[in-house]
Amino acid sequence: MRHKRCSYVSRSNEETRRRASKLKGSSLSLIRQTTLAHTVGTSGLGLHTGVPVEVRLRPAPPDNGYIFVRTDLDNFELPATVECVAHSSYATTLMHTGVTLATVEHLLAALRGGGVDNAYIEVDNLEVPIMDGSAEPFTELIERAGVVEQTAARRALRVRKKIVAAEGARRMSVEPFEGYEIDCLIDFAHPLIGVQRLRFDALDPIGFNREIASARTFGFTNEIEALRRANLIRGGSIDNAIVLTPDGMLNETPLRTHDEFVRHKILDIIGDLALLGMPLLGRVRAERSGHLFHAMLMTKLLRDDSAWEVVDMPIGALTTAGSSL
Ligand SMILES: [Zn+2]
Repeated sequence: MRHKRCSYVSRSNEETRRRASKLKGSSLSLIRQTTLAHTVGTSGLGLHTGVPVEVRLRPAPPDNGYIFVRTDLDNFELPATVECVAHSSYATTLMHTGVTLATVEHLLAALRGGGVDNAYIEVDNLEVPIMDGSAEPFTELIERAGVVEQTAARRALRVRKKIVAAEGARRMSVEPFEGYEIDCLIDFAHPLIGVQRLRFDALDPIGFNREIASARTFGFTNEIEALRRANLIRGGSIDNAIVLTPDGMLNETPLRTHDEFVRHKILDIIGDLALLGMPLLGRVRAERSGHLFHAMLMTKLLRDDSAWEVVDMPIGALTTAGSSL
């Protein structure tokens, strides 16, 4: 295990150096990195295994980002980075030297959306618990821990030119913008969904906790049957997803908001894009996107050195996006 951790450290340092060499901006920035004030924990069922999983969030030093720790595997560390994305068809899975961790995106959304920059996330199984299918239980956990400022300035990955990933009617792009805005459109031929569109200021933690965190994941009964046959989502139920039938839903309680579906897509985008290691300064436009598209866009962006730079988070960014909504 030890040499595997070391190999991650060297890769991580290399990445940090690569990004630091592009570091620009004022060291006098008043926006600082944050972490948790205390260690907190909870437990829930794994979506795929259906077994209980313990999760603990611990404070971490500046520039650490998010690192998952498999406590069942000698504290093996999986950094939450784009380079570690393994597969991402219906949930985002990380893999590092053969060790995997599934369903990371809702917890990452709670951290990124909640304005927490650095944390260790201990998990004692191969997936993060699904909880109620939203990020709200993790948001409440973060609120219970408290968030504290650190000495280092918060960094941001500033987009310098437009990058597009497209395939048929599915499309996702990121472009320069002095805030972090997500403009999301979904389109499902289903009576409860149809076309839903929402723009959101992803640098507003209060807005995230109030408008996005509680939106649950959703699935269609025919897809769910296929996943069940593949021996996946053994823990999936109406307790942790909106389960859609051809003309309605299995859940007996109402939707949390009429546009819960597009809100959840924004939640997924914030969670997946947290794998960039720092908040984005840019405008994201997503039309009919999904986890695969989110990974494709991030990879395409990071591969083009002229498309981004690392800067200290400008003070104005915290209000720019909000004022345009
Ligand atoms: Zn999701």
